[in-house]
Amino acid sequence: MIPVTEARKIIRENMFSLPPVEVDVEKAVDHVLAEDVYATCDIPPFHQSAMDGYAFVFKDWKNGGSLLVDGEIPAGKGSKAPISTGKAVRIFTGAVVPEGADTVVMQERVTRKGTQLFIEDELLEEGRNIRYKGTEIRKDDLALPEGTVLSPAGVGFLSGVGIARVKVYPMPYVAIVVTGNELQQAGKELQPGQIYESNASMLRAALKQIGIEKISVHLAEDKLDTLTGILGNALKNNDVVLLTGGVSVGDYDFVVRAAENCGVQQLFHKLKQRPGKPLYMGRKENKLVFGLPGNPSSVLTCFYEYVWNALQALCGRERQLTSLNVPLSIAYAKKNALTHFLKGIYKNGEVTPATGQESFRLGSFARANCLIELGEEVKEYEKGEEVTIHLLPLYG
Ligand code: AMP
Ligand code: MG
Repeated sequence: MIPVTEARKIIRENMFSLPPVEVDVEKAVDHVLAEDVYATCDIPPFHQSAMDGYAFVFKDWKNGGSLLVDGEIPAGKGSKAPISTGKAVRIFTGAVVPEGADTVVMQERVTRKGTQLFIEDELLEEGRNIRYKGTEIRKDDLALPEGTVLSPAGVGFLSGVGIARVKVYPMPYVAIVVTGNELQQAGKELQPGQIYESNASMLRAALKQIGIEKISVHLAEDKLDTLTGILGNALKNNDVVLLTGGVSVGDYDFVVRAAENCGVQQLFHKLKQRPGKPLYMGRKENKLVFGLPGNPSSVLTCFYEYVWNALQALCGRERQLTSLNVPLSIAYAKKNALTHFLKGIYKNGEVTPATGQESFRLGSFARANCLIELGEEVKEYEKGEEVTIHLLPLYG
């Protein structure tokens, strides 16, 4: 058994990003840029009106009274001839400001009599209501650097600077292999000795929260050769294989041996922690294998505390659950020398361990918004004592 800190170190040492791929910008949301991206043109590409109104030469208006309206420029049309002295051009938001014009007045601040324009905007300053060429970004300037996680705004920004395709770190292909002869699918009738299967749908949901969509699920009997076959295939087609159950030392626990049979190199097996003591991690070239426990609550704890970080790294991110130090709302006696991860409810600046911490119980996890990490030492925690919590993804 190794300590939690040692397992974290081993995972860090085995983190890598998948080789970048080029994708359409619109498919790149949530992905991390694998290259610096530069603007293909000035944005705006020309001096642009910021208002529906009139473009004119500021001096002309200040020197004389009214201006003569001569023509109009809607958005999407090329520039007209340069503006001539004493004239104004009807203009719309986003349209090209004609050469020579230096100011736009809002249509709400003018009066028109035929082609005569009276500007009634004493506060108007020269140069107002124009978005100047290149004020957002200049051609060939850095739009977004490598390592940026593309948000919807990022996707829009890159499209707006003329980028159609980008290099990103892809999301991994992940296989979920659920072991256990006792498992039945929800919606079907339980036979004697059976329980409903929880891990596949739960892991699929947790993967989707990262943005991973390329997921396959395999159900495996507790038989060494069957499991070896399924794992072998899963390794061919995936970057990561997550097995659940069958990772302890029972007569029907075949995960570690199946991994060995498939040529997976063991990185660790068994941690000084609760829940999730039997956690296994292995690697075969650039494929990662996690042997998660069977009990659903242990599975998800190990997923968030270990698998999460490794998956984030594959996607090019350096990300863990957000950690906070917060006071306990009640006293808590920790009776053994294992790191504990408790399902917690963080509210109003303090955290309360949820009732029902046993690892076969998922209800507490379903109500929790964080995991409380308590170090290895045996300890009576006092009410108000600070502990470290890891906020679950939707809450971090
Ligand atoms: P194991 O490590 O395979 O002995 O599993 C430990 C416990 O977790 C047993 O009580 C199993 O029935 C339960 N378990 C294993 N896999 C699942 C699953 N996919 N869904 C719900 N419970 C499971
Ligand atoms: Mg089992």
